[in-house]
Amino acid sequence: MGATVLIVEDEPGIQEVLRFNLHQNGYDTWVASDAEQAWALLREGMPDALLVDWMLPGMNGIELTRKVRADRRLKDLPIIMLTARIEERDKILGLDSGADDYLSKPFSPRELLARLRAVLRRRVPQGTEAPVEIGLLRLDPVGHRVTGGEQLIELGPTEFRLLHFFMTHAERVYSRAQLLDHVWGDHVFVEERTVDVHIRRLRSALAPYGHDGLIQTVRGAGYRLSVQ
Ligand code: CA
Repeated sequence: MGATVLIVEDEPGIQEVLRFNLHQNGYDTWVASDAEQAWALLREGMPDALLVDWMLPGMNGIELTRKVRADRRLKDLPIIMLTARIEERDKILGLDSGADDYLSKPFSPRELLARLRAVLRRRVPQGTEAPVEIGLLRLDPVGHRVTGGEQLIELGPTEFRLLHFFMTHAERVYSRAQLLDHVWGDHVFVEERTVDVHIRRLRSALAPYGHDGLIQTVRGAGYRLSVQ
């Protein structure tokens, strides 16, 4: 089954190019001409990813992205920002607003599809949908749930991806740079100390269930998940 992509673009010509290329490659599409229409569609259902034009009439693409990220149900949706602006500071503003990636117009359909595949892959970075269990800890990538015994453990999206990576690569040590590659993908704006922040959050989320000791610091090397 193809993923569904919500296209938010006001220029009919570009809308059509996007729709055509996505359909040709097995995606389903929803189309909105402005942020209000997009929001109405998001209230009704859940696409797999968003392509959002920066310059829209009314609420712009940056504001829409912030609104999606602030919404409890929608916050993890992959978002690619489309724009004619090519300056570096605009790129950073786009990513700061919560977009996962950025595509400058004019873009080639091949580049669009490659970036879309990348953000969709990053959502479940291990490329597997099978639940993983270690001791009493169970992670279900499809249901996006982590349980410790009978109890549901609440994790942020990054902590979830990090735990998924560790659980599928147990007993091996990974450096911060390797974790960035595997868990964050090719995101160039993330610093290595960000890893420490998310490790800390992951440990404190696991602590009430007694699983915080699973994530071990290996001095001078990095981190590993170990049941030893
Ligand atoms: Ca536009």
